[in-house]
Amino acid sequence: MKPSIGSPRFFTSATKRLLQASLVALTATAGLMAGSSSAQTYPTKPINLVVPFAAGGPTDVVARTLAASMTKVLGQSVVVENKLGAGGTIAASYVAKSQPDGYTFFIHHNGMATSPALYRKLSFNPLTDFEYVGQAVDVPMTLIARKDMPANNMAELITYVKANSTKINLANAGLGAVSHLCGMLLQQALGVDLTTVPFSGTAPAMNALLGGQVDLLCDQTTNTVPQIKAGTVKSYGVTTKQRIKALPDQPTLSEGGLKDFEVVVWHGVYAPKGTPPAVIEKFGAALRAGMKDPNFASRMADLGAEMTPDSKQTPEGLRVWLNSEVNKWGPIIRKAGVYAD
Ligand code: ASP
Repeated sequence: MKPSIGSPRFFTSATKRLLQASLVALTATAGLMAGSSSAQTYPTKPINLVVPFAAGGPTDVVARTLAASMTKVLGQSVVVENKLGAGGTIAASYVAKSQPDGYTFFIHHNGMATSPALYRKLSFNPLTDFEYVGQAVDVPMTLIARKDMPANNMAELITYVKANSTKINLANAGLGAVSHLCGMLLQQALGVDLTTVPFSGTAPAMNALLGGQVDLLCDQTTNTVPQIKAGTVKSYGVTTKQRIKALPDQPTLSEGGLKDFEVVVWHGVYAPKGTPPAVIEKFGAALRAGMKDPNFASRMADLGAEMTPDSKQTPEGLRVWLNSEVNKWGPIIRKAGVYAD
């Protein structure tokens, strides 16, 4: 018998998923139109901002500082929720499956673009399962070591790492984390294979470095500037093309001998697919206003972060950028043969 509309066989499971998603989106829109939670009065309760790494780390610091400024703009609390594991993919999957009702948003970095190539089985699609809100700050990274590391500058570190590669532990925040990406580029540049130690974020990785349990870490300045300034870790330089204002004495890694070494961490803000456009518009306007808050701007500047250009702070700006990053990193990662099942 030929399947007809109404017969269960008419719907393929893909069609069913599409219908379910449209239904959820319609319900959410209807809910927003109806009375107390109309787009005008939105938000009527606290909003969750999901962070894919441990509290106290660099992504968390950006998110919490932003959440405080956005809370002032929206008149409702933006509450950070840390969902840890698998280099940020557990949080992304959680948000992709959350209600698109305007009360769950997600902040993630470059990992959103690298995860499709890094993970063979991914339960979400970064390009189709989310609504785009906009990009936030861009953050340089630094290469740091435990305080008693014998090498005192990049030239010494290169010699030391090459001679002791089997003994050196390199911490990261899991496959898909930018610390992983930066560490991978470092090992490629030096032609070494170090033992990597994954954590649920670079806050716990930093604690292990301070405690001398690991040797090296490549991490965002939003986590490392206070430690570098306090002299509790050794720093070999920044991963940007130019030196940065927050750490004027730190050379670029390129100056230090890793020619053309560059990693900049960008941040995107997303919502589950189907979140009503009026909500995206309102939350996005609050994101852009929050970034202009002097408290946010000065804290970020102190920590070495830079405001992303206005053109990237929009849904379209993020959509175009994410697509270009997915296309850029896919072939590089596949060529390197790094992946998780
Ligand atoms: N810095 C981390 C990373 O390597 C994430 C974090 O803890 O914020 O991706």
